[in-house]
Amino acid sequence: MKETKSTCPYCGVGCGVVIESDGLQITGVRGDPEHPANLGRLCTKGSTLHLTAAPAYAQQARLLQPMRRLERTSAPQVASWDQALDELAARIAGIRAAHGPDALGFYLSGQLLTEDYYVFNKLVKGLLGTNNLDTNSRLCMSSAVAGYKATLGSDAPPACYEDIDLAGCLFITGSNMAWAHPILFRRVEEARARNPQLRIIVADPRRTETAELADLYLPLQPGSDVMLFHGLLHIMLWEGWTDSAFIAQHTSGFAQLKALVREATPEKVAAVCGLPVADLYRAARWMALGGAEEPTDARRPSLSLYCQGLNQSRSGTANNAALINLHLATGQIGRPGAGPLSLTGQPNAMGGREVGGLSNLLSAHRDLSNAGHRAEVAQLWGVESIPAQPGKSALEMFEAAADGQIKALWIACTNPAQSMPEQAMVRRALERAELVVVQEAFAATETTAYADWLLPASTWGEKLGTVTNSERRISRVRAAVVAPGAARHDWQIGVELARRLEQHLRPSLPTLFPYDTANADAGAEAIWNEHRESTRGRDLDITGLSWPLLEVKGPQQWPMPQGASQGRQRLYGDAVFATDDGRARFDAQPWQAPAVPRDARHPFSLNTGRLRDQWHGMTRTGQLGRLFAHVSEPQLQVGPQDMQRLQLKDGDLVHLSNRYGAIVLPVQADPGLQPAQLYLPMHWGSMYLSGMGSKGQRLAGVNALTTPERCPRSKQPELKHVAVKLLKA
Ligand code: SF4
Repeated sequence: MKETKSTCPYCGVGCGVVIESDGLQITGVRGDPEHPANLGRLCTKGSTLHLTAAPAYAQQARLLQPMRRLERTSAPQVASWDQALDELAARIAGIRAAHGPDALGFYLSGQLLTEDYYVFNKLVKGLLGTNNLDTNSRLCMSSAVAGYKATLGSDAPPACYEDIDLAGCLFITGSNMAWAHPILFRRVEEARARNPQLRIIVADPRRTETAELADLYLPLQPGSDVMLFHGLLHIMLWEGWTDSAFIAQHTSGFAQLKALVREATPEKVAAVCGLPVADLYRAARWMALGGAEEPTDARRPSLSLYCQGLNQSRSGTANNAALINLHLATGQIGRPGAGPLSLTGQPNAMGGREVGGLSNLLSAHRDLSNAGHRAEVAQLWGVESIPAQPGKSALEMFEAAADGQIKALWIACTNPAQSMPEQAMVRRALERAELVVVQEAFAATETTAYADWLLPASTWGEKLGTVTNSERRISRVRAAVVAPGAARHDWQIGVELARRLEQHLRPSLPTLFPYDTANADAGAEAIWNEHRESTRGRDLDITGLSWPLLEVKGPQQWPMPQGASQGRQRLYGDAVFATDDGRARFDAQPWQAPAVPRDARHPFSLNTGRLRDQWHGMTRTGQLGRLFAHVSEPQLQVGPQDMQRLQLKDGDLVHLSNRYGAIVLPVQADPGLQPAQLYLPMHWGSMYLSGMGSKGQRLAGVNALTTPERCPRSKQPELKHVAVKLLKA
């Protein structure tokens, strides 16, 4: 029996696991009692991980060999790695020569490890000379990134999990963390049980399991978040609950925001958000005063926890910034129990951002738009320059492929033909691209059906490297067993491709990718060391950390600069922010209604999100029968009043449609939904839930209906709201 410490590959809580194996097969999994994120606990998904690694499952579900389709409609044929990589390097170099580097697009995943991300970022931006590299984190966390940068100057969550234990008030908004981040929610429940003075506010259009724990539940109308936050600030100002000394000494831009929120009177906010005025006052008081009813000498701390409800919106950046404004206006930041803590959706969206894995970023939180940052990264990588031309974000990349501008799409560890909005456009892009490469652990996703080349990748239990969770904590990911078949680590595939491309693009020069692909441990550590060096002097400086130190001290939070004995638990304790002048910036953005609002023809708001026991497109969790015990099939949740008005009963089929597409599925009453609001889990793909586009094409799941409208600052699409028509089928 062998035991290997690693992490759970699902959500951004980043729980530590102990993998049990006989050296060849994974036989069990349990929570790592020494990992600070979970202290030994696992949720239903994490505790069944070993079952998804069973050999029978691997044989059925895994992609085991490189495969090539000679025709898009033909069955894929097995090829060798040399054949695959030689041909792909030649095709990519050829497309680059004929159409320029921006004819290439790389779409990666927040489930890749930091080392995978680093190699692909260097390959695309450093070697190929295009910034067209984006990831599914664009659909997940990019509004949180933009919100932090707009206000605090850096993409750095300032608080930590321990702050849940220390807060006087928890403001949970846009997050059903009871289901989406279950182990962290256990911590909230324990804080609730331990501290009778703790006040919990939950703002969510749907009364979720999270809301059941709330002292104050705010069932705001979909898309009214900015109005709510402005309204709370208006009340705080009126009642004298702001921290004027903090505002004066440590922030800028308050006068503009104050003028803006003057219009957000309690009566107006109550009308737009659909909330009682008295509840607005109570929320403002608790949020400003850390759960106290009256101002106290030492202000009690307030922590906010938030996720996709704020991010997946056309106002995603404004939502995040308006919430952070509240923390800044009340001095609720930089001290124990206080601060805005965004909950990361995926296990390594943070690590991806750290190495610059978005089309507008460069290594170590550098900005592509900054010429100095481009020069620094070019020097670090040993290339002449990094192109200044902005890269395309996720949706832009697929739109460009659908228009014929992007000729080749390389997709790793993600399933855009299910998970992106405006599925009709995404599928047009995959059909029109000259070359589609899918690098995947799983053989049959919606996207693999479009691939010219399928490249088998390793996955949980086989991979090694690092990830960073929602509280900036870097953990080692370790391999318990060898990947099956010919599967390789994602970074190894990137390195082997890069070296072949170098023969086309810079022959006779030394390689930029000198990592040992034959010795995965040494190779991955060398990549991480290069990343570590890129962080020197940056906000996420980890030059004091090393893989041997992670072995000895366990997971560490960044920053941990050279000379530090441990990572920093929380940021901005000195109230010096990561802006040019050290002052945090208030971000004054007016409220905007959802992009596709309800109208007479489409009178329902459709909300999308997660279930407790499923993960993303169910490639892994969908294989386990026991994980369907919670919810066994895709069901449209409808409020009881609408069920009655439309004479629907549980199990009746309804036809749901809008300008993007249509689906037919059964309904289930959900007492947590208000009239005219619907909820549909995001997990079900075409195997379970067929949809149809407006031109009659076959589409998959809920994203047959979602809108590509997006936040202009973060480019994150509004997956949380679209108007639909509902008819009994
Ligand atoms: Fe995995 Fe998240 Fe569950 Fe922890 S809470 S076990 S990271 S899915």
